[in-house]
Amino acid sequence: MTPKRLHIAIQKSGRLAERSLELIRAAGYRLNRSASDLAYSVENAPIDLWCLRDDDIPTFVADGVADLGVVGRNVLAERTAGGSNGLREVMPLGFGRCRLAIAAPQSFAYRGPGSLQGLRIATTYPNLLQQYLSEAGVEARVVTMRGAVEVAPRLTLADAICDLVSTGATLEANGLVALATVLESEAVLVRSTRSLDPDIDAVAESLTSRFRGVVASQDAKYVMMNAPRSALPRITEILPGAGAPTVMALAGRDDAVAVHAVCQESVFWETLEALKEAGASAILVLPIEKMM
Ligand code: ATP
Ligand code: ZN
Repeated sequence: MTPKRLHIAIQKSGRLAERSLELIRAAGYRLNRSASDLAYSVENAPIDLWCLRDDDIPTFVADGVADLGVVGRNVLAERTAGGSNGLREVMPLGFGRCRLAIAAPQSFAYRGPGSLQGLRIATTYPNLLQQYLSEAGVEARVVTMRGAVEVAPRLTLADAICDLVSTGATLEANGLVALATVLESEAVLVRSTRSLDPDIDAVAESLTSRFRGVVASQDAKYVMMNAPRSALPRITEILPGAGAPTVMALAGRDDAVAVHAVCQESVFWETLEALKEAGASAILVLPIEKMM
């Protein structure tokens, strides 16, 4: 009997493709590309990778053809709006951040969701848009397009659009401005709501736990400093996303200590300035390679 293998689907090419592969490699999986370019096999674990159009990933995962998938939350949420549809988000992956937003020509006088009443809004996300409008008690006409939504207002096909935005450059280039956020999105790991084969499930659990480690260590930093003992409460408060810091004696000093902490969130220059102001000195911020 051939050993069972877990199948994970990722985007073939596009905004999530590169980072998805990077994440899998960072989790310690060694990839062998197949001749076709459309699949990889993992050398050191029973895992196969399929490279697909992102829109097809939810279907394959829901049908149990693939066990796990990596897609934008926007794609998953559009599929599951109004019901689970056999899919669930396992964890956010920390890349591919964007938001699904309603945007209109710069001249549009927007005073909250009520201003959208009676408008024609073009989108490739009809379910999410309709859900947003219903929750806001607004009746508007949802126009479903397959793509190129941002040109709809200029062609007078629609008064407004509902589309993905990251920097806003595309909107600006089309004379549009974002008015309201329908969904905050990033790449997520998805799996089916039905239970997996126990052997496959064990592989999925191990992969998920490694992914958690990689994602957690991405922004995490190891921070070290010296500080007056009296400044400890203030310093603990400033350190972003740190638990209880490790406090060590400094040779020949009773009034000062060494403080070490793992910060789970980004450490900005502002954080270092605040630490200095609180009395810290010799502050070091180090990257963390792995975390579990
Ligand atoms: P495919 O060929 O796989 O169907 P696509 O054209 O649908 O690709 P991409 O444009 O590569 O998809 O976007 C994939 C995902 O990247 C989106 O679903 C979204 O989650 C995320 N994303 C991040 N920033 C943006 C952005 N500015 N515009 C569109 N998608 C973005
Ligand atoms: Zn797509």
